[in-house]
Amino acid sequence: MLDKAPNKKLADLLDKFGAALSAGDIDKAVTCFQEDCYWRDLVTFTWNIKTMEGRDQVRDMLLSQLAQTKPSNWAIAKGEDAAESGGLLEGWISFETEVARGFGHIRLKDGKIWTLLTTMVELKGHEEPAGFDRPMGAKHGHGKNRPTWKEEREKEAAELGFKTQPHTLIIGGGQGGIALGARLRQLGVPTIIVEKNERAGDSWRKRYKSLCLHDPVWYDHLPYIDFPRNWPVFSPKDKIGDWLEMYTKVMELNYWSSTEAKSATYDDKKKEWTVVVRGDGKDITLKPKQLVLATGMSSKANTPAFKGMDSFKGDQHHSSKHPGPDAYAGKKAVVIGSNNSAHDIAAALWEAGADVTMVQRSTTHISRSETLMEIGLGSLYSEKAVQGGMTTAKADLIFASLPYKILHEFQIPAYAEMKKRDAEFYKGLEKAGFMLDWGDDESGLFMKYLRRGSGYYIDVGASELIIDGSIKLKSGVDVKEIKAHSVLLSDGSELPADLIVYATGYGSMNGWAADLISRQVADKVGKCWGLGSNTTKDPGPWEGELRNMWKPTQQEALWFHGGNLHQSRHYSQFLSLQLKARHQGIPTPVYGLQQVHHKG
Ligand SMILES: Cc1cc2nc3c(=O)[nH]c(=O)nc-3n(C[C@H](O)[C@H](O)[C@H](O)COP(=O)(O)OP(=O)(O)OC[C@H]3O[C@@H](n4cnc5c(N)ncnc54)[C@H](O)[C@@H]3O)c2cc1C
Repeated sequence: MLDKAPNKKLADLLDKFGAALSAGDIDKAVTCFQEDCYWRDLVTFTWNIKTMEGRDQVRDMLLSQLAQTKPSNWAIAKGEDAAESGGLLEGWISFETEVARGFGHIRLKDGKIWTLLTTMVELKGHEEPAGFDRPMGAKHGHGKNRPTWKEEREKEAAELGFKTQPHTLIIGGGQGGIALGARLRQLGVPTIIVEKNERAGDSWRKRYKSLCLHDPVWYDHLPYIDFPRNWPVFSPKDKIGDWLEMYTKVMELNYWSSTEAKSATYDDKKKEWTVVVRGDGKDITLKPKQLVLATGMSSKANTPAFKGMDSFKGDQHHSSKHPGPDAYAGKKAVVIGSNNSAHDIAAALWEAGADVTMVQRSTTHISRSETLMEIGLGSLYSEKAVQGGMTTAKADLIFASLPYKILHEFQIPAYAEMKKRDAEFYKGLEKAGFMLDWGDDESGLFMKYLRRGSGYYIDVGASELIIDGSIKLKSGVDVKEIKAHSVLLSDGSELPADLIVYATGYGSMNGWAADLISRQVADKVGKCWGLGSNTTKDPGPWEGELRNMWKPTQQEALWFHGGNLHQSRHYSQFLSLQLKARHQGIPTPVYGLQQVHHKG
């Protein structure tokens, strides 16, 4: 029989917490929390993405926000039961604010809140037309010269951006821009997405030939339309490109392909952007109120400037421009770098018959895909999880409920287990001279992704080629000089080369703001991504959330959206609601606007 006691305990706590908030008794509300507590808010109280750490920060936020948030109706979410194990009671909760409905997750220790996640689901009076409220589509009845759905769509497309202005302009129509565009469409926010490529999905299609997603299908769904049950676990890049193109069409997005944003300026007085975009050889000026850069967090290429690069007589390019291996059979290829792209490209070159050497300057973390899927993602994003009743929405929220400050503590044991399980594999890599790491604090791949967005490879086969020497390795060396037909390394050795691939990663997204708006605005908003963990490539101070992503920035009306498919899906919900509120003129007093400590 289901133990009802946890429900009673959680309901009692929620009653007490809710009553204190309703009474404006902040001290009492704060006593509902443990001393060591985390309240992660996705837009409901803070109009920001913000984690309050400890009672003092909770108090400070409530002092600033409670009066206008007016929360109410705290309850265990309908159809859910709290569960208790190992001294931890957890459950799903629902609540309301004056303007929105919220859903959340809570963990109690000793009857007090240890972690609280509050997320905005919808704005009251501005719900998405879904379920009982879905559009009719057909207009029953009759009338002379009634426009069809197609004619209405064509009219909208012909007028938006010309006769009428979009409220929101999204620059970049990769999966990030597309997912956000879909949500804004459902929320009725007039939006245009401009994409310089010819077709939606091209940002995937144009990557190197051998690329398949490194994350499995359960992690990758877009909002509204899940991949079908027979979709492959790891989408080949062209297949995901086609899916995005289909999605863009059926979700009725105003998607301007072959259109490049050239410049953007903000008028503080008019509260409006002027954005010049170029398509079909013509400049068009758009005047959106809100501007989102969804230009890719892995697309601002970091190309090194080595001495002598100009004198190289073979082919050389950044990994993002690598066409694939076909032209390099029998050629000598040098791949500079040792993370994901470097491994994928090196393996494909080897398969095509090239003689490949990888140059590894510093340590890299490697997780075997199979092990990562089981230990890292299995409980939330796997067929087993789905069969056990886990939904994508719940998995995303559970993931979001773990505060960044302590996330590494959950990751460290998982990676210790991986290290043990794949000990032979790691021994082989070390024997081949590969320099491994597990992150500064042994917390592995996902923390590296959040902290610096780089420094790892999810092994899908290339490591075996390094272990057996098929891909040659030069590690612990740097490039000293590029010569006409070779790469000279810091240890004095020289690698003959017909092809050099610089798999040297990507720069911070505010670099896009520098290109499009100004260096001054790029510096004003500062570095994107990273938590301020004071680990390699993620300098402190501690920020508590990813810098600048999906939340207000120091530049009014400028937003950054991106990340992997999981993040694009999940955080587009919260960015779209922030934009919708502004579209409707709903007050959005932002709490804890992030300070800028690093320029990029
Ligand atoms: C090799 C590699 C493997 C990856 N594997 C995975 C994976 O397995 N799973 C995963 O989730 N993520 C993966 N990623 C991360 C991946 O970059 C992102 O998931 C995805 O591409 C991000 O989507 P996005 O829309 O944010 O950016 P992008 O896909 O980079 O899209 C940005 C778009 O902006 C456009 N653009 C830029 N400037 C302008 C302008 N001025 N005007 C108009 N358009 C512009 C570009 O043409 C581009 O289409 C991988 C990345 C790389 C490089």
